[in-house]
This record gives sequence, structure tokens and C-alpha cells, in this order.
Amino acid sequence: MTTTSREIRLKSRPAGFPEEDDFELAETPVPDPGARELLVENRWMSVDPYMRGRMIERKSYVPPFQIGEPLQGGAIGEVLASRHDGFSAGDFVLSMNGWRERFVCDGQGLTKVDPALAPVQAYLGVLGMPGMTAYAGLLRIGEPKPGETVFVSAASGAVGAIVCQIAKLKGCRVIGSVGSAAKAAWLQGELGVDATLDYKTCGDLTAALQAAAPDGVDVYFENVGGEHLTAALEAMNPFGRIVMCGMIAGYNDVERRPGPPNLFHMIGKNLRMQGFIVTQLWDTHEAFLEDMSKWIAAGQVKWKETVEHGIENAPRAFMKLFTGENFGKMLVKLT
Ligand code: NDP
Repeated sequence: MTTTSREIRLKSRPAGFPEEDDFELAETPVPDPGARELLVENRWMSVDPYMRGRMIERKSYVPPFQIGEPLQGGAIGEVLASRHDGFSAGDFVLSMNGWRERFVCDGQGLTKVDPALAPVQAYLGVLGMPGMTAYAGLLRIGEPKPGETVFVSAASGAVGAIVCQIAKLKGCRVIGSVGSAAKAAWLQGELGVDATLDYKTCGDLTAALQAAAPDGVDVYFENVGGEHLTAALEAMNPFGRIVMCGMIAGYNDVERRPGPPNLFHMIGKNLRMQGFIVTQLWDTHEAFLEDMSKWIAAGQVKWKETVEHGIENAPRAFMKLFTGENFGKMLVKLT
């Protein structure tokens, strides 16, 4: 029996901050699965800051979203019907077919997830791409050593909160920057972060970071850019490492902003700054799953979620990433 699916399509390329009107909700028929195909109903979908980059028409590490086409992104679905040997009805699968309620496919690009280990939506967060970003970025690029100081921006977010906790597990002193008192309280009270800055209220961010890090910063995990990078460069210790993970403060800029005025510290302090795309570090994925599963089971890694309900609210959930209205991993609960 043919069914239907609602999906979110890109209506126009956002100019600056994305607006509701840049997206449209559409309904489309979904055929019955053919031979070696399966029908999946999405239960959860992820909205992620990197999707903003895919809304721009430009050459990048992933192709841009196309106007009039459904958006794509991480989703967890349940197999409703299968004519594929590798999948059975009731299986939970991770796919990149988010922003829609249902789809039929041939199984390519689908990964089964284990609902016994954690709630299935955790595979979009702590056990998924953001968790892996935190793990691989911090450990492989940041190379933190016990006793060192790690500074993390967007520290209560999907990536940032996991970076903070892994850095604590590795014996580091951790300072997190966030945009609200509630986020700061959670980091210090629940996650054991040593010091926090509220960049919206702290005044001079460089002075606030220097006060929070009297012995300097050895590893800066960059999620934000702008003033945060300037402050970090000022506070970095010699031979420090800057992990360039994201620069969300600039994602909605219409014109490129100038770089930090104190980049010269890279030289005098012998700093290393390295960017990465998590998929390029995937040879660490097995180690990540092993360590993260162990830490979760031992209660050593915790996380928060902010959940919007219904496909029609997915654009709103996405936009909230840029105002800090998410607390932890931003998710949309679908069917
Ligand atoms: P988050 O869960 O951290 O959500 C985004 C957060 O960023 C908001 O909650 C807000 O927190 C903060 N923020 C938004 N706008 C600003 C601003 N103008 N100035 C300062 N802070 C701001 O998202 P993710 O954890 O998914 O992503 C974090 C970063 O990691 C992003 O930059 C993303 O692009 C990057 N990333 C990179 C990957 C890679 O492969 N390199 C993979 C995955 C993510 P607050 O309230 O504290 O301001």
C-alpha cells in the first residue's frame, strides 16, 4: 500500500540568519519497497550547524543542498517493511535521510544501531557524529596531556559537552565558554568542568579567559570563532594546540569577517592550529565506540538533549542552533 511522507525542502538560500520562509513543507508519495528494498519510518532527526554551509551554493567538502529538494542529514528510523536480506521490520537504522518522515531505499548507507546500549537518538549525538567529532578532534588533534588546561567554546553543546568530559577523563583542567548561566551551572555542577565563562555577560572575553586560566591554555577546542579565537590565542601557552572544529559565530555572515588581530601568537608561542572534518578521522571510529560505550555504561559521560516535535518544526529547531536555544544535542522527534 503506497504511503506518503512529509519532508522539508530548501525553498531559498538564506541570506544571513535563516528564516522560516527559506524552507517549505511538502508531502510526497512513498512507494512500496521493491525487491531488495526496505521502507523506513524516521523516529528522530538531527539538525546540525554544518547544514548551514550546505545551504550556500559553493564548492565544499559536501555538495550544497538544492533548491526545491528535500534537505539531508542524520536520522534514526525504524524499518517498517523489508524485502532486503540484511534488514528486518523492527530494526533501527541510522541514515542520512533526515528531514523527511519515511523513505524507501536499497539499504546503502544505512547502519543498524543497537537500542540496548542507549536510547536510539543517542546515535545522533553522544554515540554518533557529534560524539565522534569530540573524541577524534580532541584526542588526535588536541593531544591533551594530564595536568594540561583545555578551553572549549560552545561547551554545553552536542560536541562541546563531550569534549569537556573526555578532557576531564584524560586528567585535564577544563574551562568551558557558554551563553547562559544555566549552561554554565550544568557544566560545573554535573560534568565537573573546572571553570566556565558566560561570553554574553563576562565583558572582555580575553580578560575573563585569562582570569579563568591563570596558568594559560594548552589546548583550545574551537567551536565558535570570532572573539573566542582572539581570546584563546592570547591565553595559549607555548606549544599549545588549537583544534579547529567549527566557527559557528560566522556561519550566517553575509560578508567574510577579518581574522583574529593577534594571529602572530602562532609564531612566537610555537602554536599548532589544525582543522578537521570528522569523516576524515573515521579510522578512529571503532576506538570511539569502544571507549564511549564504556564511559556511558560507567556513568562517566552524560549528555543533554533539546527536542522539538514534528517535521514541520525542524526548520525552527535548526534555527535555534544559532541563538543558543538548544541545551545539548538539538533533535527533532518525528513519528
Ligand atoms: P551545538 O550543540 O554546540 O549548538 C550550537 C551552539 O553554538 C549553540 O547552542 C550556542 O551555544 C553556540 N553558538 C551559536 N551561535 C553562537 C555565536 N554567535 N557565538 C557563540 N556561540 C554561539 O552544536 P554542535 O555541537 O553540533 O556543533 C558545535 C560546533 O562543532 C559547530 O561549530 C559545528 O559546525 C562544529 N562541528 C564540526 C564538525 C567537524 O567535522 N569539524 C562536526 C560536527 C560539528 P551557547 O548558548 O553556549 O552560545
